[in-house]
Amino acid sequence: MPRPIRATFDLTALSANLRAIRTCAADARVWAVVKADAYGHGLARAARALADADGFALLDLDAAARLRDLGVDKPILLLEGCFSPDELAACAALGVSIGVHCVEQVEVLERARLARPIGVYLKMNTGMNRLGIRPEAFRAAHARLRAAPSVGPLALMTHFADADGERGVAEQLHRFEAATVGLPGERSLANSAATLRHPVAHADWVRPGIALYGCSPFADAAADTFGLAPVMTLESEIIAVQTLVAGDRVGYGGTFTAGGPMRIGVVACGYADGYPRHAPTGTPILVSGQRTRTIGRVSMDMLAADLTALPEAGIGSRVTLWGEGLSCDEVAAAAGTLSYELLCALAARVPQFELG
Ligand SMILES: *Cc1c(COP(=O)(O)O)cnc(C)c1O
Repeated sequence: MPRPIRATFDLTALSANLRAIRTCAADARVWAVVKADAYGHGLARAARALADADGFALLDLDAAARLRDLGVDKPILLLEGCFSPDELAACAALGVSIGVHCVEQVEVLERARLARPIGVYLKMNTGMNRLGIRPEAFRAAHARLRAAPSVGPLALMTHFADADGERGVAEQLHRFEAATVGLPGERSLANSAATLRHPVAHADWVRPGIALYGCSPFADAAADTFGLAPVMTLESEIIAVQTLVAGDRVGYGGTFTAGGPMRIGVVACGYADGYPRHAPTGTPILVSGQRTRTIGRVSMDMLAADLTALPEAGIGSRVTLWGEGLSCDEVAAAAGTLSYELLCALAARVPQFELG
């Protein structure tokens, strides 16, 4: 018997999430964001389930080449562009479009002599201060790219810092619009949060990531309120049971002390599987489909679940760490992080299966 942990991917849910996003942004085309191995879901399977997307956006040329090898003939966009000038020829050969976020990348494109021109998304820094050309320098960069023989269709993009939060998109959207008045080209601005909550920012192409995978970009709204369903379910089993008396401590550091008689189940899942080590006592977990809480520190290969109120549960009982029946967002919130981080951290040692 292998260790009982497994990750299951509901590909029907992944396809349905794309449809839910389309319903919400019917005015726009969809770049399905599949960076970080499709947020831990596997690039190849995500591309299959998202075959109806209008294009795929990711970071690495290698991953773009893999998509082409898999037969994907849709547009592909490298969100951060090329990391070195010698990648340009491969992008042209693969028909992959690239982001351009700085003047150095503009210069590389000006000097390039490519077999065929490539699509470019010129990125503006409208306030995130991560990647992008500042609004006042944007037109000059745009003009240089339009004059460059290696540049084909030239689109415009920016990225919101707080589409999921209080500030929203208004200020950044205003900067973007003011600095691009009259410029030709398609626009792409919206991540999942802006796609779901800020229709003014839909523009020509939305760029959802996390929502495709059935998680919410918002701290104050659950994914199902947008018709999104979980895709990844991380499951395991109870492999041992301990009966505690008052004063017994649990796990490394003995951070949890039983206040009275308790039963705990030891789950075959730990931080080496991608479960967050910082998840404190009280993090939600399902045992036999019933909600309970984790107890004590998460260790490398195991964690403990409270079975005191679940007398039927024991060795072999099914445990859901997140996914179907328990949203990854909720587990992430309890651990002080985001579902993004948990999904991406799924470890290679966890066997993967597909549904749908
Ligand atoms: C990751 C990323 C997205 C997708 O963000 P989500 O919050 O997952 O929807 C969109 N655009 C860019 C530039 C990104 O890097």
